[in-house]
Amino acid sequence: MKIVVIPGDGIGAETMAATVEVLRAASKRYSLKLELVDEIAGHASLARHGATVTPELLERVSAADGLMLGPMSTFEFKDESRGEINPSKFFRKELDLFANIRPARTYAGMPAKLGAMDLVVVRENTEGFYADRNVESGSSEILVTRDVVISLRRITRHCCERIARAAFALAMTRRRHLSVVHKANVLKIGDGMFLDICRAVAKEFPEVRVDEFIVDAMMAHVVRDPKRFDVIVTTNMFGDILSDLTAEISGSLGMGGSLNLGLDHAMGQAAHGSAPDIAGRDVANPFSLVLSAGMLLEWFGAKSGNADFVAAAQAISLGVAGAIESGECTADAGGRLGTRATGAALAQRLSAGR
Ligand code: NAD
Repeated sequence: MKIVVIPGDGIGAETMAATVEVLRAASKRYSLKLELVDEIAGHASLARHGATVTPELLERVSAADGLMLGPMSTFEFKDESRGEINPSKFFRKELDLFANIRPARTYAGMPAKLGAMDLVVVRENTEGFYADRNVESGSSEILVTRDVVISLRRITRHCCERIARAAFALAMTRRRHLSVVHKANVLKIGDGMFLDICRAVAKEFPEVRVDEFIVDAMMAHVVRDPKRFDVIVTTNMFGDILSDLTAEISGSLGMGGSLNLGLDHAMGQAAHGSAPDIAGRDVANPFSLVLSAGMLLEWFGAKSGNADFVAAAQAISLGVAGAIESGECTADAGGRLGTRATGAALAQRLSAGR
């Protein structure tokens, strides 16, 4: 498996270095023969190539088996005509990574803010309110006058159907419970269509128990009793917001791993951003990226029918749980180690088969 590795901005260099150490240990232990190819994007690429991402990079990523993308300082990228392209949106759009799978679970030994929970947010990843990716070219955010802005939201039957199917399929592998989160009481046509499609797809999955929540009330429900949720499916922006909340209430946003999934490609990426407030201090939690890497290996194992990759992914997941229980993790997860030592300890754990 050839994986392109892009560290990203802010805490990306530190957390990706720890993730690579874990991947190398997993590769050795499970004979995966991982080929990790270093590339750059974001500020490093802007300085070197005049653009945060380039068509050549896309070609190399398309030809590889997977991508690990570090967090990017996207807020600083203002003008695409000057090469300041959001790398996240670039890969999601160009590789059609339509499903963003964002698990949030508690671990023994990690202070849980609201009790035990184990859920997954399945977020549509290619349209919605994200104006930089929901049109073929340009942006669907329009400056009408200096004082008037229109931001358009795109919802399509095709994208609703495929995200609904992905969420139901995932629910079938878990506790067979799917919660549909929407705002169809106000966005009657767009979210109305999303909701109708989820209800129609539900008929193909009669074993899955389905319930529905309006997105604002969902914020109260998930904080009130997170353990009642299993898989949650929602549109792009709602899922973006909800999944940061669920990661944080599970213990820390620094535990928020995610996989961006398409039909042929997948990209592991932490749910959080580049965290400039803690960058360079060796305190960032690398487990969000490590868990994302585990998800990428699992995806590849399922796709290629290679059980070693699935076993390696399980070992990473169990290793993270063991590390947290032993306090071999960063302070946000209740531990006492820095970023580098957390990665090294987990790599050692994997090498020793613990
Ligand atoms: P953020 O997600 O970077 O940070 C939010 C809070 O969580 C901060 O207090 C931060 O220190 C903490 N945090 C984040 N990751 C952590 C980790 N691994 N371990 C411990 N604590 C962690 O959000 P922000 O500060 O609003 O955004 C910073 C930059 O990241 C902005 O430029 C934003 O546009 C960008 N961003 C990028 C992505 C992405 O690349 N996918 C996602 C979200 C935000």
